[in-house]
Amino acid sequence: MNIDPGSSISIEIANKWVVDCIENHKDCRPPSKTTATQEGTILPTRVIRILNNDDLRLVSGASPGRYTILSYCWGRPQEFATTIDTIKSSRAGFKTHQLPKTLRDAVELTRSLGVEYLWIDALCIIQDSPDDKEIELQEMPSYYRNAYLTICAGGSSCDDGFLTTKSAHCDDHLGMGIPRDLLNIPYFAPNGEIDDIFFREENPYSLSDEPVSKRAWTFQERILSPRVLTYGGRMLWQCTTTQKSAGGVQDRSFDTRSTSGREIKLGLAEMQKHSAQMTVKGKNNVKTGTKSQLKAARDYSLWYNAVEEFCERDITFPQDKLPAIAALAKEFASALKDEYVAGLLKADFLRGLLWSTWPNLDVQKPNKWRAPTWSWASVECSITYSRLPPLSATELAKITKIEYTPTSGSFPYGEVTAGAVEIQAPVFSFDLEVMTDTLRKQYMMPAPQDSMEWRKLMLNPAKGGLGSNEDWKLKVDSIFLILLAEPISTDPDEDGGNGENGDDDVDEISDDEKIGLLHGLVLTPIEGEGEDGTYERVSSFSNLRVKGYLNLRKQEKTVRIV
Ligand SMILES: [Zn+2]
Repeated sequence: MNIDPGSSISIEIANKWVVDCIENHKDCRPPSKTTATQEGTILPTRVIRILNNDDLRLVSGASPGRYTILSYCWGRPQEFATTIDTIKSSRAGFKTHQLPKTLRDAVELTRSLGVEYLWIDALCIIQDSPDDKEIELQEMPSYYRNAYLTICAGGSSCDDGFLTTKSAHCDDHLGMGIPRDLLNIPYFAPNGEIDDIFFREENPYSLSDEPVSKRAWTFQERILSPRVLTYGGRMLWQCTTTQKSAGGVQDRSFDTRSTSGREIKLGLAEMQKHSAQMTVKGKNNVKTGTKSQLKAARDYSLWYNAVEEFCERDITFPQDKLPAIAALAKEFASALKDEYVAGLLKADFLRGLLWSTWPNLDVQKPNKWRAPTWSWASVECSITYSRLPPLSATELAKITKIEYTPTSGSFPYGEVTAGAVEIQAPVFSFDLEVMTDTLRKQYMMPAPQDSMEWRKLMLNPAKGGLGSNEDWKLKVDSIFLILLAEPISTDPDEDGGNGENGDDDVDEISDDEKIGLLHGLVLTPIEGEGEDGTYERVSSFSNLRVKGYLNLRKQEKTVRIV
């Protein structure tokens, strides 16, 4: 373990990692020509120029140069932040010692790495200017992509710092400045002298346990950065090509949980690599061909995983929910050649609607309207996409209209002011008690073999499992809207086909006999508006086994969900 991340040896290690990545890692270079090199890249709109130890200046990033980015937890209001009032004085110059410890450390590290510029959101975006925020939000993917290095401070507040010597929660060996839980074993060095080797018990490390990994905003920052150097319980290097840790044991994994975002980072990098060569398949065409279908399923799953992980994280301002993942959404939409609508991707819209708040039927909403009810951004709790049907599932619904008003007309990935979808689909409703009961059962147990749901249950048993949702009741006039169906074989000798080409095999079975696993939404009419078919989404259901499900097509209806 490296207990002194600020030492010259540690800085040397960090420097080696960055230089090695930039010079030798082909996969860590973005496909664009504006790649970060030793010479520099296009700078963000504003950057902090490090003049010397204590003198900083906010400058326009007009010319090429090298810059680092600081990803950190604010932890408290950033009173030193740049505002319309303070931008003039920031441009004139300010002092490093006036900044909180984490920012001071970022300046020191940047300077030690021989980099002249630094980008910090609180200082480089005018915090009280919605216009500036909107413009800068759009540029964030390229800021992260082109940075020389993203420095990630693991602590929970801007006052924590990250270059300080760690005590390692242990007294030091007498006069050695080394923690005492290190076992000192003398040995004969090759030159004949006696030297020391230190051993320490392996201490498992999980990046998800760092406070910075629990914040919503830092999620996309980590994924979009080709190189991230994290200073937390470990000094940890992660780039698209490799991960390393300074000193101590090499963990089998830097993350014992699935929420590190690394899988998403690598998957997205892979998608972007292929995206350039991909023939344009066009929208609503993800179902062509088995091979591309498999790939599409994987690619869209990656987005759903990202949303799940993102929604587990805390956000200070509820209205930031969509903006805090906007940069990542933009990258996904671009790699998939798809359109983004309030958290969902258009070409896989029906499956995208099927997020679930398992294990809670009663969900918390933000105080202020944030997103249409069909978007996961409308709820405060974590969500799961673990019960999605395969891409090959039969579509029983047709999206007839999507209305969507982004707050900023020029940027469809951020906040929204309105959104409605019109869906033509089979609808069914039955006894309210039975419907309520059906849903309670669905939300009682985790989906089989789904580690995410099981993990949630293990981490927070009070929230899930038997006995929850007891007081939850479905409202009068609620309906089940069927979006997708997975046909299942009624004859044990048949494999059931893939649901689309299986018609020939099942000719002899009448529609009354055909069994399907249904997936869809639970909707409640909006008071006073239900008459004309306007509903809100209250939940979703999955794998509902229904015999004669094709007959439900006769009960088709067009509903509007807001
Ligand atoms: Zn690399």
